[in-house]
This record gives sequence, C-alpha cells and structure tokens, in this order.
Amino acid sequence: MIKETSLCGFVAKNVNQAADYIGSDQNIQKILERTTNEIVVNFPVKMDDDRIEMFTGYRIQHNDVLGPFQGGLRFHRGIGIDEVRALAWCMTYKTALVNLPLGGASGGIQFDPSKYTFKEMERITRRFTFALGDNIGPEYDIPSPDVNTNPQIMAWILDTYLSTIPPRKRLACIHVVTGKPVESGGSLGRNKATGQGVAFLIEQWAKDKGFNLNGVTYIVQGFGNVGSWTARLLKSRGLKLMAVEDFTGAVFNPEGIDPDQLSEHVRMNRGVKGYPNSKSIDHSSFLSTKADIFIPCALENQITAETAPILNVKLIAEGANSPTDPEGDAILQKKGIDVIPDILCNAGGVIVSYFEWLQNKRSESWDLEEVDGKLHKKIVDVYVRVRDTAKKYSTDWRTAAYIVALLRLETVYKERGIFP
Ligand code: NAD
Repeated sequence: MIKETSLCGFVAKNVNQAADYIGSDQNIQKILERTTNEIVVNFPVKMDDDRIEMFTGYRIQHNDVLGPFQGGLRFHRGIGIDEVRALAWCMTYKTALVNLPLGGASGGIQFDPSKYTFKEMERITRRFTFALGDNIGPEYDIPSPDVNTNPQIMAWILDTYLSTIPPRKRLACIHVVTGKPVESGGSLGRNKATGQGVAFLIEQWAKDKGFNLNGVTYIVQGFGNVGSWTARLLKSRGLKLMAVEDFTGAVFNPEGIDPDQLSEHVRMNRGVKGYPNSKSIDHSSFLSTKADIFIPCALENQITAETAPILNVKLIAEGANSPTDPEGDAILQKKGIDVIPDILCNAGGVIVSYFEWLQNKRSESWDLEEVDGKLHKKIVDVYVRVRDTAKKYSTDWRTAAYIVALLRLETVYKERGIFP
C-alpha cells in the first residue's frame, strides 16, 4: 500500500475510499497502484551566453489499459517525481471517468521558466523532446499543455518529434501532441477547453440547485490558462468576479473585476499584482472573501486543514489538479460546501485533447460549435453520472467520481484478464 501522506498518497486515499464502496478486486488494485513506466532524463542545454545547463525531465506513464497514455507536461521549479506520479495516476482515473479511449500519464521539467529567454525555452523544450525519443508517440503517449506550457511549447515538441522520424511517416504523426496552435494542427476550442468545461459544470450545478447565475459571486486562484478562461467565460453568464490570486499576489474589488481587462493586465505584467481597478489583499483575506463559488486554478494542496476553515463559499469547482488535501476535504464536507472534484471539473482539457487527436487522425477540422457542443454533451453526461453515483452510494462527489472511473477500469481488466 502507498503511504497516504504524499501527493501520491492523497490520490491513493481517494482510490481506496472508492474501492471500499464497491468492494473492488484486490488484484486489480495491485496493478492500478503502480505506474507502468517512469522515464527520467537528464539533458544538457546551451544557454544564450554559451554556458551549458543540465536539466531533469520526467514522463511518468501510469496506465494504458484503456488506450494510449495521455497527460500534461508541466514546467515548474517545484516538480519532482512524486508530484508527476500523482498527476499521471489522476489522469488514468480522469480518462476512465469521462469514458475516453486513453490512459494516464504526466511529465515535465524541473526548472523556473520565468528565468529563461524565449530562445532558451525553445532549446530546453526541443532537447527534452529529443531526450524522450520514442517514449512518446501519436499512438503511444500524447503530451498536452499544463502549468507553464502552452501551444507554442506543443508546436516545438511537434516539430522536434517529427524531425526525428522518417520523412514518409511525419504527416501521419501530428497527433503526437495536443493543445497545438490551430494553424499547426490544433483543435479550435482547445486553448479554452479546460475553462469551458469548468463553466459548463458550474452552469449545470446552478441548474440543479435552482440558482440563477446572474450576479453570483466567485473568486479564482491562478489566472493562467484555466483560471483566466473560466473567468472570461463566466463573465458572459453574468457572474461577478470578486477576487483573484496568483503567484504575484491577490487583488479584490467588491464591485467586481473585469476578467478581460485583468487578462490583458496579466499578459502585459505577468501577474495580477498592480491591477488598477482593485485593492491588493493578502493570502488569508483572499481565501476568506465571501463569495458563492471558489475556483482554484493554480497548484496542489491549497485547501487544507489550515485554509478550509476560513473559506466562505457554497461551491468549490476544482479547475486545478489536487487543490484539496484529504484533511481539507473532510472540513469541506463538514461545512456542507459542495465540491466538483478535479477529475471531473477540469476534464474539459483532456476531452478536447481527445477531439484534437481524433481530428488529426482523420484529417478533419471541426468548427468551434461542433467542439463546444460535443464537449458540453460529454461533460454534462459525466456530471450526471457522478451526481447519481454519489446519491446511490450516499457518498461525496470525489469518491463518486473515483467509483465511476474504477468500475470502468475493473470491467476492462476483468474482460481482458492478465497475460499469460
Ligand atoms: P498556467 O501556468 O497557465 O497558470 C497557472 C497559474 O497559477 C498562474 O496564474 C500562476 O501565477 C498561478 N500560481 C502559481 N503558483 C501559485 C501560487 N503559489 N499561488 C497562487 N497562484 C499560483 O497553468 P494552467 O494550465 O492554467 O493550470 C492550472 C491548473 O489547472 C494546474 O493544476 C493544472 O494541472 C490544471 N489543469 C490544466 C489543464 C490545461 O488544459 N492547461 C487541464 C487540466 C488541469
């Protein structure tokens, strides 16, 4: 058994809880609690001033029983193998939950991208891709964007990967990464997809609760891809953004913050700090802001035994992966705060990654209406399954989401059996 204290341990706790509810097969649990492959690469990169720096990169492939490995690549000074393992593990449950023919993986490079130039970023990305070699591939392991990675990074990975395979095979391999720029084979709607999924789920939750979203207040932690898109999409539904926190600080305005203007400020200044139409507040004031909804869209372990007691909201929509630790979770349940758990809440990203992968394989390009329509149907269907499963087993939504995922994984293992 994995110790329930590390980030991997927190995932283990969620899985174990779900497994207990359904009387899960212990033999299948033994398989699912281990990663399939763990690739660690150390590689040199030439800096602009001709110095050589060494970097460490990871690609952890957790499970591919449902289909090719799929998952994000994160560039962050704080990432280590435990975190990447946990993210890969969650991906297996996320793809199973949303019923995609994909497995779970995750990866990244341990460094602080803010300290490197654009040209250095390109060389670091390309050299990492080269070091991974055929450990990634369009029918084997498909990376996508995560913290501090974006369509430009995916384009460099694509170009480097294609350059390393025989010319005749290149055009058949552009689905080696998803989240590419649209011109380079990306899908319309992928850049906003995770935020779009969060927005669709909040709408569905409000519908269930008989809540009129117009004027509903919310706060967002993290204003990168997921946080900013979620806020911009919620603006058109009439919600009021009260406070935002990112790694530069936190800002508050009781009259509401305009997400489009804030996005522009962040683009120019690399963070929310100094946003003119707001007051700067500290971390605990941010967390205790009275609002209807809190949407964490930054890093792990933000809602804990220390922070959960001061939250003053009715719903937590987990745009980030693993923003709540088990102690925080228990407090949220005691306080009666609803939670749309991460593996459901931020699944819009992997759903549209799958759409991009399919379009590339079929040489198609779907219009935005088609992408959004298919995403809406898929994510709302899963929402209903999680809600009904929570009711059936009288449990919280996180456990219910893991139950749905686990049942699918178990069914496949039982049908296929174990070789030999
Ligand atoms: P991003 O790099 O675009 O943005 C990250 C944001 O978090 C930035 O605003 C940054 O300032 C903020 N942040 C970093 N450290 C912080 C701290 N200590 N306190 C407060 N804010 C902090 O990353 P993203 O792609 O938006 O990913 C955010 C979260 O969503 C991650 O947990 C990621 O795993 C998850 N996620 C992303 C996607 C996707 O499609 N990009 C899909 C699923 C899940």
